[in-house]
Amino acid sequence: MPVKHPNRIPLARLPTPLVRLQRLERELGGGPLQIWLKRDDLTGVEFSGNKVRKLEYIAADALAAGCDTLITEGTPQSNHCRATAAVCARLGLRSHLLFRPPPPEDPPQGNHLLDVLFGARTSAFARERFTAEHDEIVRDAARSTNADGGRARYTPAGASEPLGCWGYIRAAAELAEQLAAAHVDEADVVLAVSSGGTYAGLLLGALVHRLDHLKVWAVPVSDDVGYHRRNVSRLCREAIEQFGLPAEFDESRLQFIDGYVGPGYGVPYPEAIAALRLLARVEGMVLDPVYTAKAFCAVLDGVRGGRFGCERPVVFIHTGGIFSNFAWPETLLQ
Ligand SMILES: *Cc1c(COP(=O)(O)O)cnc(C)c1O
Repeated sequence: MPVKHPNRIPLARLPTPLVRLQRLERELGGGPLQIWLKRDDLTGVEFSGNKVRKLEYIAADALAAGCDTLITEGTPQSNHCRATAAVCARLGLRSHLLFRPPPPEDPPQGNHLLDVLFGARTSAFARERFTAEHDEIVRDAARSTNADGGRARYTPAGASEPLGCWGYIRAAAELAEQLAAAHVDEADVVLAVSSGGTYAGLLLGALVHRLDHLKVWAVPVSDDVGYHRRNVSRLCREAIEQFGLPAEFDESRLQFIDGYVGPGYGVPYPEAIAALRLLARVEGMVLDPVYTAKAFCAVLDGVRGGRFGCERPVVFIHTGGIFSNFAWPETLLQ
């Protein structure tokens, strides 16, 4: 039975390039090594990264429901909040971003600066209060949209709800096609995981499109593996049920590479910064300090330890995030 895709608004520039990092391969010793980068940092809509693939579906759903506002949440440097603000500006929708914790003193930097340019409305909350009163805070935000004569759709952090997973169900097929064209018969695919929708989408995409030759590994950059195991499983199960996907999910599909969160979410550490600087210097490509630098660290360690890239190619999904670099310049230059 063919899978019925939900409606989407095409916003991303697809397919994103799949490139081989030959200079990095040489830098790491060459030989039979194959390292590929799937450039989802280049999806467009002002460098929205992985989030725009999810928001294509969320925005379509909001418009179909007659909504004029998207409400979402994240830190002030959230790539997802910024991507939501950009997508809303593109589509003539309003965005209301719920920040936790509040941004540091003015002026806004990095992603937050862009939120302001895109005309987003922002509200800020202490982290403890936001956690304790989450549902009321979201309801109040929706109510205030209604009071202004509007209608709001809420999407959770990272747009990681079952509908958002479609972005990467679709991306899995795109990647498989590109790998086939590049004569890559099997590969390890590695990505950062935080709110989980990207990983859940790729896993579901691999199941739905029967891509058994791709083994997908997730590198947590926040929380612990137990949390991610529960969260990604939940997303996969909910999406299968909600959309009647022809997929059998079991937890043995989940493969995490632990040990790369460092001191905490959004807090960089020297090895991650070194990974970011290495790719910038050798390939002219820029990772971000919160997600992709940490996850790419796992790829580099895997390559150096012979786990990735030698027996079969390794593909890293570059999920974006460039603007965070400009929020913490001191860190990158340490
Ligand atoms: C949000 C984000 C991720 C993580 O994706 P999730 O779907 O939240 O797990 C990875 N990289 C970047 C740059 C992001 O902004």
